[in-house]
Amino acid sequence: MSSCPCGSSRPFEECCGPILAGEPAPSAEALMRSRYTAFVRHDLDHVERTHAPEIREDFNRAEAERMVAEAEWQRLDILRASEEGDAGQVEFLIHFRRDGQELRHHERASFRREDGRWLYVSGEINPKGEPRRVVKVGRNEPCPCGSGKKYKACCGR
Ligand SMILES: [Zn+2]
Ligand SMILES: [Zn+2]
Repeated sequence: MSSCPCGSSRPFEECCGPILAGEPAPSAEALMRSRYTAFVRHDLDHVERTHAPEIREDFNRAEAERMVAEAEWQRLDILRASEEGDAGQVEFLIHFRRDGQELRHHERASFRREDGRWLYVSGEINPKGEPRRVVKVGRNEPCPCGSGKKYKACCGR
């Protein structure tokens, strides 16, 4: 079994695999991770069906296909993730390479849970300032990114 492309250090079959296969993501962060994994695996059906209905028609499938084919995906960093009821926010960095250039995509994305399924609603690219809510995690608690490390040794550094 290979570790999941999303960087969780869990096997793909136990991490993003089931979500890509159609199971509901347990959290907004898990959905975000699975969408990144879908880019890596060129599985744009998953990306498209996890868009909120109101933005689905804005999704340029052809453009997205071209983008995922040209990019060399390197790493996903979840910077912050929070949830309140059926609303979630995930701020993340995607590291990738295109045309020999090292690039980063920094986004604060909003998610909504509808009928038990998390959906991507919108994203602010290169967000400024602090998000409204921050997950509070003790330094010695397990990191919320799912890495299995202590927070201080992982995303809390
Ligand atoms: Zn994963
Ligand atoms: Zn972490």
